[in-house]
Amino acid sequence: MIKIALFSSKSYDKEYFERFKPQAGIEIRYFKSALNEDTTELAKGFDVVCVFVNDQINSTVLKYLKEHGTRLIALRCAGFNNVDLDAAQDYGIKVVRVPAYSPNAVAEHAMALILTLNRKTHKAYNRVREGNFSLERLTGFNVHRKTIGVIGTGKIGKAFCNICLGFGANVMAYDIHPDSELEKKGVVYSSIENLFKNSDIISLHCPLNDNTRHMINKDAFKIMKDGVMLINTSRGALVDTKAAIKALKKHKLGYFGIDVYEQEENLFFHDHSENIIEDEVIMRLISFPNVLITSHQAFFTHEALEEITTTTYQNITDFTNCKESKNVVA
Ligand code: NAD
Repeated sequence: MIKIALFSSKSYDKEYFERFKPQAGIEIRYFKSALNEDTTELAKGFDVVCVFVNDQINSTVLKYLKEHGTRLIALRCAGFNNVDLDAAQDYGIKVVRVPAYSPNAVAEHAMALILTLNRKTHKAYNRVREGNFSLERLTGFNVHRKTIGVIGTGKIGKAFCNICLGFGANVMAYDIHPDSELEKKGVVYSSIENLFKNSDIISLHCPLNDNTRHMINKDAFKIMKDGVMLINTSRGALVDTKAAIKALKKHKLGYFGIDVYEQEENLFFHDHSENIIEDEVIMRLISFPNVLITSHQAFFTHEALEEITTTTYQNITDFTNCKESKNVVA
C-alpha cells in the first residue's frame, strides 16, 4: 500500500483524485494546509508527498521528509521553482512533475486577460446589470495587426503564439531556444530589448529561475512603448511588482493582466473576503482601473485537472515500479 499525503487540497483535487484513483494499492490523506516548515509533521510516515505551486519544499522540509519516510515528491504542476532540487538530491528524494497538463488552457487564459482588459467586458457586464447602457470609457483597440511580444515559446508560449497568429497579430518572440516551426508560421524572434521596444502587448511564458527573476523591471519598462499591455500567466516574480506599480502610475504601463503574483502564497486559492488583507502591494494593484488579477486560474479547466490527476498517478506508479520517467526533475 502506497501512502500519499496530498497538500493544499481543494474540493476539486479530491473530486478528481478520487474519480481516477486506481482500484487498489493507494491510500490518500487530503490536507487543506500547504506543505511548509510549519506543517511538515503532517507528512510523517507518508511514502509520497503530493504538492502544488505554493507549497514550499525547502531543505528544512526535505530533511524532515527524509527522516520520516518520504521517498517521492509528486508535483501536481509543471513549474518546480518552489522545490530545492539540490537538497532533494542530497536527501535522495525523487521529484516528479506534470510537465504539460494543458498548454492551451493557460494560453487561452492569457488571451482572455488581453481581451478583457482591452474590450472591458468585465466593466460592461457590471454596467448593464445596473441599467447603464452607456459606451463611455469602454473604447478598446483591434488586436489585429498589433505587435504581440511573447517571452518563452515552449509549450504554453507556442500555443499562445498560435492564438495570436489567428487574431492576425504580428508576433515577436524571445526565447533562449527559438522554435523553427513558429518561425515558419511568421513568428519573428528578436532580442529581448527589441521585443520590449516594439510590442504593444507583452506576454510572459518562460519559467522562473535566477536568470528570469524580475526580468520585467524598471529598466525594461523604460524601453517599452507608452501604454504597453503586460500579461503574466507564468510566475509572479518574473515581474518586479513595485516597478510595475510605478510604471502604472506614470501611464507607461497601460494595462496589466496577471494570473500570478510575487507574494501569492498566502493569498491565492483562499477566500479572504471577510479578512483584512495586509498586503499593501496587491491592494494598490487592485485599486488601478487598468489592472486585472485572477488568482492562478489559467490552468483551471476540466481537461487540465484530468491530465494532472492521471499523470500524477502514473508518475507515482512508475516510481514504485522503478520505471524510468521523463517527468523526473530530480
Ligand atoms: P516550457 O518548459 O515548455 O517552456 C518554457 C520556455 O521558456 C522554453 O522554450 C524555454 O527555452 C524558455 N526559457 C527558459 N529560460 C528563458 C529565458 N531566460 N528567457 C526566455 N525564455 C526562456 O514551459 P511551459 O509549459 O510553456 O510553461 C511556462 C511557464 O508557465 C511555467 O514555467 C510555469 O511557471 C507557468 N505556468 C503557469 C500556469 C498557470 O496556471 N498560471 C500553469 C502552468 C504553467
